[in-house]
Amino acid sequence: MIIQLNENITTEQENFVRGIVTKTGYALNEVKTKRQRYLVCVGNKPFDIRTIGNLPGVHDVHYVADANKLVSNEWKVKNTVIDLGDGIKIGEGNFSIMAGPCSIENEAQIETTVTFLKQQGIKIMRGGVYKPRSSPYAFRGLGIEGLKLFYKECAANGIKIVTEVMQMDQIEAMYEYVDIFQVGARNAQNFNLLDALGEAGKPVLLKRGISGTVEELLSSAEYIFSNGNEQIILCERGIRTYEKAYRNTLDLNAVPYLKSKTHLPVVVDPSHGVGIRAYVESMSLAAVMAGADGVIVEIHENPEKAFSDGQQTLNFTEAELLVDKLRKTYQLRETFQ
Ligand code: PEP
Ligand code: MN
Repeated sequence: MIIQLNENITTEQENFVRGIVTKTGYALNEVKTKRQRYLVCVGNKPFDIRTIGNLPGVHDVHYVADANKLVSNEWKVKNTVIDLGDGIKIGEGNFSIMAGPCSIENEAQIETTVTFLKQQGIKIMRGGVYKPRSSPYAFRGLGIEGLKLFYKECAANGIKIVTEVMQMDQIEAMYEYVDIFQVGARNAQNFNLLDALGEAGKPVLLKRGISGTVEELLSSAEYIFSNGNEQIILCERGIRTYEKAYRNTLDLNAVPYLKSKTHLPVVVDPSHGVGIRAYVESMSLAAVMAGADGVIVEIHENPEKAFSDGQQTLNFTEAELLVDKLRKTYQLRETFQ
């Protein structure tokens, strides 16, 4: 059960509501986002929500059976739209293309990518400055100095930034340079990081864990929301299966499943999902038709020279073709609705 409280509820009124709920045997969790205060009530005793709905100070009350309550669309009629400012939105009628290199490498690379994105009308650039790498000897990112270069170029050109944060103590320094914090697959269940991003309040692109289930992805999103941040984008990025022919198995089932379960936007990362450049286009277009709200794709002026993930990275010519096909496919999908 979720109780939405009015902004001006008095302490007395709130205590009365809390009293009824706890007496019935429900555990109460208070959640405060920028927009609303909620009491998330966990329990399974039969409860007539009308006994609460008409009480003074209560805005609305909803019965939510799903274990992941705040991210469930059982209670929220309208889907969540992430507003990045300057008219750039993710979710519900906005098909978002996020593109950029796996890793931010140097100033020249940022500049050429930004120029390309502008030519293509792409408003969100991806690029890692903190890179989770299997080998400690691989390139691990330029860190905060790289992020400052990334920000300087993007801010000057009206491009928003999505970049990975790997640990809690990076959030503060990164905060002013980031539009969307990415939580990578390896950190999908780093609950302390999720708590901290909930408190930080900036949009979060939450990737599915390498061997995570979709329900675990929703639970991770619930961590962020229950700490006060409802601006969450879910990202299917492939899971590890017994199949060895490609890097991961992109689970496109997840898209309609998640869309039917949650009000949060769902995007797909076909680059990590398949891990082979030649198949990125097909899987991107398939993601659109599966109902995704956007894609996040790795591109590089010269993928052979990329510091990381070159094998799954599109060059600018391939990316231009993909962007055109993505937009046409999205238009086609829209005609179905
Ligand atoms: C990335 O986006 O470059 C990345 C490391 O992604 P993931 O966490 O999905 O592997
Ligand atoms: Mn990558």
